[in-house]
Amino acid sequence: MQYNKLGKSGLQVSRLSLGSWLTFGKQIGDETAEALMDFAYEQGINFFDNAEIYARGKSEQVMGAILKKKGWSRDSYIVSSKAFFGIGGELPTQKGLSRKHLVEACEAALKRFQLDYLDLYYCHRPDKQTPIEETVWTMHQLIMQGKILYWGTSEWSAQEIMEAHMFAKQNHLIGPIVEQPEYNMFVREKIEVEYAQLYKTVGLGTTIWSPLASGILSGKYNDQFPSDTRLGMEGLEWLKERNLTQERMNAVLALTNLAQELNLSLPVLSLAWCLKNPNVSTVILGASKLTQLQENIKALDAQHLLSAEVMQRIEEILQNKPIFPAY
Ligand code: NDP
Repeated sequence: MQYNKLGKSGLQVSRLSLGSWLTFGKQIGDETAEALMDFAYEQGINFFDNAEIYARGKSEQVMGAILKKKGWSRDSYIVSSKAFFGIGGELPTQKGLSRKHLVEACEAALKRFQLDYLDLYYCHRPDKQTPIEETVWTMHQLIMQGKILYWGTSEWSAQEIMEAHMFAKQNHLIGPIVEQPEYNMFVREKIEVEYAQLYKTVGLGTTIWSPLASGILSGKYNDQFPSDTRLGMEGLEWLKERNLTQERMNAVLALTNLAQELNLSLPVLSLAWCLKNPNVSTVILGASKLTQLQENIKALDAQHLLSAEVMQRIEEILQNKPIFPAY
């Protein structure tokens, strides 16, 4: 396994990590979740990603129970959670980034995980109703109380991240070290353009999500719609609509041919492409089956096959390279 410092922080995170969205506590049984974590840990994956909203708290419970059962040394892994969406409560105090929700959500996550502290705690989305100052103060205090070790953001704009940093700096508080945006061959703007300055100024680290665009970059939707997959799950019609567009499927077909030429599977090519970006600290993998994770981990060794020429051919297929503003 390769490890990377998470941005400017001293936290060393494995280049591939494992997430639990839609799988733990929902799509897959606990035995499969355990097999995934077992394999990941054996391979040197040290970061397990979670959130309060995943299976409405159940994902944290399942992951926490597995960590407890395994008895892995607490200093050998990094575990995260995220607050913002709540666990399903509709009252205004049950979500967002107010001091009230963040403190209560952190406490509740620790109980569900059966852990004393979280290594990483994310603000899952920006909260337009809460001043950034209140959120920064609260995250700093959670660190001071030993309930979390580092904090970050997810899907915040560069401006919001910078605002949090400036406030933290002015007040000698600990600012966010990491952002968690979507990044894959179809969604590139934030990682490749919007945050470009932040890597240099505040030393932003990134933990990227949906590297296979929810599975379409595995190629399994190329011919017919397979049964027993995420995009066929009830309630996820919006995700299917977003991902299974004709434009994306045309690109996936061309990418499948390229992968074959390189003797790689399409998921391995797609994940290796994400790893090639030096501003990606870790690629968070999702898997509903152990065989998927066993395949996907090969991306680490495939990076060297993505030469400048191959990267250029991928650009020609995708036709979506984000453009830097001309100023
Ligand atoms: P991907 O885009 O990689 O999708 C993973 C899914 O694709 C799997 O669950 C599986 O679904 C399918 N798949 C994976 N590998 C293969 C393979 N080799 N062959 C065939 N199918 C495959 O990642 P996720 O969308 O799961 O995101 C990863 C993690 O990122 C999440 O678990 C979560 O921790 C985090 N995340 C964070 C968000 C945020 O807002 N901060 C939002 C979303 C995710 P199936 O078998 O069911 O088709």
